[in-house]
Amino acid sequence: MSNAKHSVVIVGYGGMGSYHGHLITENGRVEVKGTYDVLEERRQASKQAGYHAYDSFEAVLNDSSVEVVLIATPNDVHKDLAIQALQAGKHVICEKPVTMSVSDFQDMVAAADEAGKVLMVHQNRRWDEDFLIVKQMYNERTIGDLFQIESRVHGANGIPGDWRHIKQYGGGMLLDWGVHLLDQMIEMIDSKIVSVRSQLSFILGDEVDDGFEAVLQFENGVTALVEVGTTNYITLPRWYVKGTEGAAVIEDWSLTGRTVTRNNEVDKIEPKPIRAGVGLTKTMAPPSEEATITGVLPEPFQRSSSFYDNFADVLEGKADPIVKNAEVLRVLNLIEAIFKAGETNEVVKDFDIYEPAGK
Ligand code: NAD
Repeated sequence: MSNAKHSVVIVGYGGMGSYHGHLITENGRVEVKGTYDVLEERRQASKQAGYHAYDSFEAVLNDSSVEVVLIATPNDVHKDLAIQALQAGKHVICEKPVTMSVSDFQDMVAAADEAGKVLMVHQNRRWDEDFLIVKQMYNERTIGDLFQIESRVHGANGIPGDWRHIKQYGGGMLLDWGVHLLDQMIEMIDSKIVSVRSQLSFILGDEVDDGFEAVLQFENGVTALVEVGTTNYITLPRWYVKGTEGAAVIEDWSLTGRTVTRNNEVDKIEPKPIRAGVGLTKTMAPPSEEATITGVLPEPFQRSSSFYDNFADVLEGKADPIVKNAEVLRVLNLIEAIFKAGETNEVVKDFDIYEPAGK
C-alpha cells in the first residue's frame, strides 16, 4: 500500500461535509486539505474544527495541490460544482443523490471521461451491515432463494432541515433515503426490473414527497418493496425477507433479528385449527414448534475494502470502483420511473437500463 495521501477539499461543510471530515481522518489514505462553504458561519465552523477554509470555490480549483473535490452541498448544485472541478483537473467524490436526473448525470460522466478523472458517488449505505446480511442471504441462499424483499426506513420526525422541503433543491424522501435503498436493491439483485409501481406521500403538506412506497418486479422473479416514511410513530422492521425455505427479519440498525426456516427433518405436520378473532382458522395457525427452526442471522457479506480505501485504490489504478457509475445511472433512471408511476398511478414498464454482468 502506498503512503501517499490524496488531498481532498470538502465543498459544503454542513452536516454531511463535517461527517466526511471524520471519515477521512479515520481512513488515513486521504487527507482533508481544507473546506469551502458559501456560508461564512460554516467557514468559521470549519476553522474551529482545525481545517483551512477556502474563501471561494475558484480558490479551491486554482490550488494545484488539491487532488480531489468532495461535494456535500444540497443536491441541486452537485452537477455544476462537479463539472467545474473535473474541468479544473480534480477527481470528484459526490454525495448522493449524485444529481437529480439521468441527463444531468450523463453530463457529469461525460465531463469526467473528457478530463480523464475519477467521479465516484458516495453510496455509503452499501456498507451498512443490515444490508450486507441480506446480501449474504441472497447470495448464499441461507433461507433458500429470496423471492420477496422488503426494505423500509421509518421515522416520525417529518422531513428534516430546510432545503430538503424544496423541490428546486432536490428535496423529498425519494431523492434522499430512496436513493440509498434503491441502490442497495440494484446492487444485490442482478436482474432486469420489468415493472415498477409506486405511491408517493405528501402527508405533511410539503411540495416534495415525505415518503413513498415502490414495488419493483425483477425478471428473475424477485419482488422488492422499498418504503420510506417520515410520519411513522410505530415503525416496521428495517428488512423482512421471504425465501423458498423460510423467512428473516432484521428489526433495525442494531441488527436484532432472526431467521425461521422449515425443518426438513420432520414430516409435514398438519397445523391444528386455532380460534382467531371470532372465527376459526387452520390456514393462519402458527406452525408447530417441530415444523420450523429459529436461527440467528448470518454474518454480513464482506466487502473487499471501505469506501475511502476503494476510492484511493481507484485513483492509484489498483481497483475498480465498488460504486459504479453505470449502477448510479440505473438508480436515477429507476427514480424517474418511480416518480412517473406515482404521478400517473400506472405500472411503468420497459424503462430499465440493466446491462447483464460481463456484457
Ligand atoms: P446541509 O444543509 O447540512 O449542508 C449543506 C452545506 O452546503 C451548507 O453548509 C451550505 O451552506 C453549503 N452550500 C450550499 N451551496 C453551496 C455551494 N454552492 N458551495 C459550497 N457550499 C454550499 O446538508 P447535508 O445534510 O450535509 O447534505 C449535503 C449533501 O449530503 C446532500 O447531497 C445530501 O443528500 C448528502 N447526505 C448524504 C448522507 C449519506 O449518508 N451519504 C447523509 C446526509 C446527507
